[in-house]
Amino acid sequence: MPSQNLRDDADTYLMQTYSRQPITIVRGRGSRVYDLEGREYIDFVGGIAVNILGHGHPDLVQTIQRQAVQLIHTSNLYYTEPQVKLAKMLVDHSFADRVFFCNSGAEANEAAIKLARRYGHEQHGPDRFEIITMKNSFHGRTLATLTATGQEKVQKGFEPLMPGFVYAPFNDFGAVESMVNERTAAILLEPIQAEGGVHVADRDYLRNLRDLCTQKDILLMFDEIQTGMGRTGTFFAHEQLGVKPDIMTLAKGLAGGVPIGACLAKESVAAAFTPGSHASTFGGNPLACAAGLTVCQVLLEGKVLEQARLQGEYLAKGLADCKDHHRIAKEVRGLGLLQGMELETDTRVVVADALVRGVLINAATERVLRFVPPLITTQEDIDKMLDVLGAILNQRGTDKGPHR
Ligand SMILES: *Cc1c(COP(=O)(O)O)cnc(C)c1O
Repeated sequence: MPSQNLRDDADTYLMQTYSRQPITIVRGRGSRVYDLEGREYIDFVGGIAVNILGHGHPDLVQTIQRQAVQLIHTSNLYYTEPQVKLAKMLVDHSFADRVFFCNSGAEANEAAIKLARRYGHEQHGPDRFEIITMKNSFHGRTLATLTATGQEKVQKGFEPLMPGFVYAPFNDFGAVESMVNERTAAILLEPIQAEGGVHVADRDYLRNLRDLCTQKDILLMFDEIQTGMGRTGTFFAHEQLGVKPDIMTLAKGLAGGVPIGACLAKESVAAAFTPGSHASTFGGNPLACAAGLTVCQVLLEGKVLEQARLQGEYLAKGLADCKDHHRIAKEVRGLGLLQGMELETDTRVVVADALVRGVLINAATERVLRFVPPLITTQEDIDKMLDVLGAILNQRGTDKGPHR
């Protein structure tokens, strides 16, 4: 079907919840994807930090093929090997003792929110339910998680919101401290606010949050849905920021593109969930967990983490150089292969221009470009992307008149 007909049908048959780029992606290989007309694109979006092993990684493909033949799904009425093995893998390589599996980031945060309330009620009584989240955060689109998300544009039109959430400015410990009271059950935040424009949490801020939570038996919950799975050069971003949470959520890259989510917790907290308190039909199914296990193995046993760290430094440096050469580029922020560039121009125009020039980039906000390539991205990919970005910024800088 020609591209235009497909787009017309998309306009006709799909609920119009997305504004899409005008290409139809039909296949991918490594760090590249190809559209219906056969054009190649260098992928700096990676399915929004999902395709961490790139496209068509042989180990992941083989695992999915084998598992599909063997068993795709049974339900949590029975034990399955991949689920238990993936849980053990995550526990062995994190602060956590137990894992609950679901199918998306929002669901992982739902599980975290429910667990925090349940723990609060059990340990401190029914008034302990409030969760402090951060302004400009992103935690998902279900009713509880859009309430947790500190952005009006995500909440607008869906009121009444879920009770029990309050919002503090990011990286402001004093603000959180002043909001804590006997109702406070948990503090939920992203170690790096990604959708919100790539803002990294300060180490001191996180250490202070940790101390406050420990003192008052408040749960510290990290949403590592985007920052986890090697994105920043370590398995989880908080490893580099010097603070361990009580609960952590994962999704996006966990199974390299197969839908999955996970909520991890310390034993003392996880014990608040008992048989019947939470569930998911698809959650932890053999196909997704087998894929997740292979992704973890490739990450931890191969050189992918090390590569992500090195390429992350290379990308950050390249973007910083690019910024220095273009007046309309204001700032570069990020960690590893999660980088943002703040511009003085509409990022959507830059994204559209990059697409025409064969590079996929994402606009996290109207002013911040986000770069989240597969962790297997190469120096060559980065150089090519930077050339394209430089050319676009040159042109846009000139459009706006000469340098001051
Ligand atoms: C993407 C994302 C979510 C939501 O995940 P979905 O799978 O889209 O529900 C939540 N939190 C963060 C930090 C994310 O990046």
